[in-house]
Amino acid sequence: MSLLTYPMLEQKYVVRSKVDRDERVETELLTMQQCCSVGLLAAMGLMAFSASADADTPPKAVATIGMIADVAANVAGECVAVEAMMASGVDPHLYQASAGDVRSLQQADAILYSGYALEGQLGEVLDKLSEKKLTLAVSSEAIATDDLITTQDVYGIDPHLWMDASLWAKTAVVIADTFSEVAPDCSGDMQARAQAYQDQLVSLHGWIEASIASIPESQRVLVTAHDAFAYYGRAYAIDVAGIQGISTESEAGIADIRDMVDTVVERKVPAVFIESTINPRTVQAVIDAAADKGQVIKIGGELYSDAMGEAETASGTYIGMLVKNTLNIVEALGGQPAAFPDALKDWAFSWGVDIAEN
Ligand SMILES: [Zn+2]
Repeated sequence: MSLLTYPMLEQKYVVRSKVDRDERVETELLTMQQCCSVGLLAAMGLMAFSASADADTPPKAVATIGMIADVAANVAGECVAVEAMMASGVDPHLYQASAGDVRSLQQADAILYSGYALEGQLGEVLDKLSEKKLTLAVSSEAIATDDLITTQDVYGIDPHLWMDASLWAKTAVVIADTFSEVAPDCSGDMQARAQAYQDQLVSLHGWIEASIASIPESQRVLVTAHDAFAYYGRAYAIDVAGIQGISTESEAGIADIRDMVDTVVERKVPAVFIESTINPRTVQAVIDAAADKGQVIKIGGELYSDAMGEAETASGTYIGMLVKNTLNIVEALGGQPAAFPDALKDWAFSWGVDIAEN
């Protein structure tokens, strides 16, 4: 009952921070202050990059996070070339634009980002570009205010909306609308692909819901390093507890860890989870402190919270990210995955993923 194989297939979009790696090593990363001090923001206002107008070259879109880029690539087909700025394992809360990123954004015909302060360090760059570029704050455009989870911290709104597949499904259509502005001839095809992809995500939603429901109720609690899973918990009826808050900008303190130990001991939680974008030491601290109280807890595996898995693997797709997370959670907490939906069998086949049913 696990993902068996991840054959290498050609990725549908370019991951910018991967292709950019050599340049990144050489280029000092630009914080906004550094950015402004070297006049980069001013230069952005002066440089007149035009939209790529070559008839044979599709228009280009840059998406900040992989979860947006993958939806966009599924919608775009061959009509728009989609590039992801942040690679696997990159934390969007902390990510700072490199000079190469800024160049890439300037050359884009459309820019897609999450919004709700997820890309905290990119806010000023995105604001500036939105004055003269087609820019879409995907989360706020696609998802109704009533569906948002509010928080008591500086965020105000929890930005981790991709954790609820039924909500993230709604991003496909708004992305198709935006892409229709840069590739109008493709509009009908992109709307059709958006609808088909949305249907896949709705099926995914049902599969996650049924799989999580198989976990014994007392063990249905998801302990993670940071608060990225509130939407997942609400959508799939599992209690969630992050050791750290919504953002990863401040470290968890001793009190956070002590509170979490009390929770896991009280509920006899069998497993806690590490995240691909976050240092696992606070999770380990909870495990060690629980062991001192006689509660043996294992690490239930690594969850993809704020970035997808490696490019060119099943987990490097949005669907695969949620599938792999759900399989890890279900296995570690004593449940069984539900029968994989027919609507996702093409996806599973194309990635060589085989989810055995019990
Ligand atoms: Zn996060």
